[in-house]
Amino acid sequence: MDYIDLHAHSTASDGTDAPGAIIEKGAAMGLRAMSVTDHDTVSGVAEAMAAGERLGAEVIPGIEVSSDYRDNNIHILGYFVDIRSPALRPVLEWVKTEREERNKKIVAMFAADGFDMTLEELREEYPISVLGRPHMAEHLMRKGYVNSIKEAFDKYLGEGARYYMPKRRISIARAVEVILAAGGVPVLAHPLQYRYPPDEVIEMIEYTKSLGIRAMECYYSEHSMAQQEWLLAQAERYGLGVSGGSDYHGSRKTHISLGTGMGNLAVPYSVLEQLKALRN
Ligand code: AMP
Ligand code: MN
Ligand code: MN
Ligand code: MN
Repeated sequence: MDYIDLHAHSTASDGTDAPGAIIEKGAAMGLRAMSVTDHDTVSGVAEAMAAGERLGAEVIPGIEVSSDYRDNNIHILGYFVDIRSPALRPVLEWVKTEREERNKKIVAMFAADGFDMTLEELREEYPISVLGRPHMAEHLMRKGYVNSIKEAFDKYLGEGARYYMPKRRISIARAVEVILAAGGVPVLAHPLQYRYPPDEVIEMIEYTKSLGIRAMECYYSEHSMAQQEWLLAQAERYGLGVSGGSDYHGSRKTHISLGTGMGNLAVPYSVLEQLKALRN
């Protein structure tokens, strides 16, 4: 059987492999189709698609949009989006500006307390990435303030810590609307990663379906086989399509491998065929 991976992050957001390198890796593993789904940006998509053409692997344009649902950060994947769509631009620009303002404030708080951290140095360290807390955590580690990324989040950057700053998000309704307007298929990402009890997962599925979501990510690295089966049954029950991918982040999430996730992920090519049928 042919396998695919429709969820991966590149250096365009918080992954460590360049978009083209992800496709090369997947093609070498024999993956038949892939999607690079960076957080709130499509800036890696063109490179990924060019690599796909070169290597004879199918590359689907993708994005993972962060959105707000009941004050939680819920991720909506968008497949087959037109990356040049005028519907997409203003929203992604807004998200980018929000993030830049927040980065500025966080770095200023660190600097005010005497930490060796400036935005300029972070930009030099990560010239093409969308900067965020993972990069600040690595910076703190490099400078010797902490011994691990976990310590950086626990002590400084995580929710409730001294240098934590919330980030405004677009509503989940807007995220779905924008993906549809850009010609994409909106998909609820990893529905079991938000720590809702089953009845609230169902509520979220019903709500997102009412907004126009067309599929759910049932195959996912961190889902057990039982969870995968449960989600597949819910997708069937609600008449939703199915998607799947590893959420590969390169060496920033060493426990997750492209294609195979934590070892037992296997997303059949038929998943992509069904997703294609959900396009307009
Ligand atoms: P940001 O978008 O700047 O708020 O950063 C969010 C990212 O930080 C997430 O996607 C995670 O990769 C990472 N992150 C958040 N909390 C933690 C944590 N406690 N430990 C390690 N990484 C984290
Ligand atoms: Mn990420
Ligand atoms: Mn996600
Ligand atoms: Mn992701």
